[in-house]
Amino acid sequence: MVKDNNFNLVIGENMKCVIKVGEARAQWWKSHMKSLLPEIEFYLHNELFDKEKIDFAIVWKPENGWLKTLSNLRCIISMGSGIDHILSDPELPKDLPIIKTTANDLKIRMREYVVLHTLKHHRNLNEVISARNNKEWKQIIEPPANKRTVGIMGLGNLGLDCARTLKSLDFIVNGWSKSEKNLDKINVFTGIDQIIEFIENVEILVCMLPLTHETRGILNIKLFEKMKKGACIINVARGEHLVEEDLVKAIDENMIKEATLDVFHEEPLPKNHFFWKNSNIFITPHIASLLDPEAGGQDIASNISKFINGEFIENLIPPGKEY
Ligand code: NDP
Repeated sequence: MVKDNNFNLVIGENMKCVIKVGEARAQWWKSHMKSLLPEIEFYLHNELFDKEKIDFAIVWKPENGWLKTLSNLRCIISMGSGIDHILSDPELPKDLPIIKTTANDLKIRMREYVVLHTLKHHRNLNEVISARNNKEWKQIIEPPANKRTVGIMGLGNLGLDCARTLKSLDFIVNGWSKSEKNLDKINVFTGIDQIIEFIENVEILVCMLPLTHETRGILNIKLFEKMKKGACIINVARGEHLVEEDLVKAIDENMIKEATLDVFHEEPLPKNHFFWKNSNIFITPHIASLLDPEAGGQDIASNISKFINGEFIENLIPPGKEY
């Protein structure tokens, strides 16, 4: 069987795939993928294989320069929905498509996390807990959701789902994306020209953007200054979206009240990092939405099959695109 796919690559039989993921589950991934795609030969990156014969690479944070050693690679599969961990390789071959993995449970978990922390900020849970710990009977009355504007930066696979869920809870939802969209009951703002309009009434801001040359450092003091005084920030996208020192400054100057951060420049967050001692920064260890390996494996297997058969792949990012 020989078929052309969208990239005019001829793919023959005996296809080979290398897996480069964290040590702990690597062997499991190999067996899982083999059970889903028995016709493909799978290798772990530290096993013996012919680098010139590899067609696919399934990766999470591959080290710089490694992918270019696989000289006949057809396609890279990201073991997750971000692809910044692949694009950050300065030696990455420029002509390869990347497929991101977005099993359905990713959306469910992200929705749970974003709703949980939006409601936490909305109902001022920090203050409720601190009153309780001081044995204070303090009734804190917050406005109802329909008087509170939540801003979602990024209306893609995960952001749009969260925007719709928050709308169903009656929040006023502003969404921000790169291209124009017409969405029921969500106020959509487009591009850098409309970012001020998007942000000015937002009291809880959720960053769900991909990390690109345009979005790196977008959560900075200039943006915080334009927001309502005392707004809260939730970052579930990538650590590099946030200028860390700017957040602490904005909290110190009462511009920003609190933040919930799931992602950081350096992960695990170093023990001596200044975030740990700031009680207005709620920290979670990149757990907003971890890929379920069973569902993720099925998503990857289905995408590899579609690639081989030249079928449309929703999550295929062509060479040159950042998300
Ligand atoms: P998508 O690629 O599906 O969506 C990206 C969205 O961002 C799109 O709506 C896009 O606009 C918008 N966007 C991109 N660039 C710009 C820009 N310059 N200005 C305005 N809008 C822009 O992303 P996902 O929903 O899959 O993922 C969102 C983020 O969540 C990623 O950073 C990902 O890495 C992260 N993530 C974090 C996890 C965690 O556990 N913390 C788990 C999974 C993902 P348009 O629609 O116009 O193209």
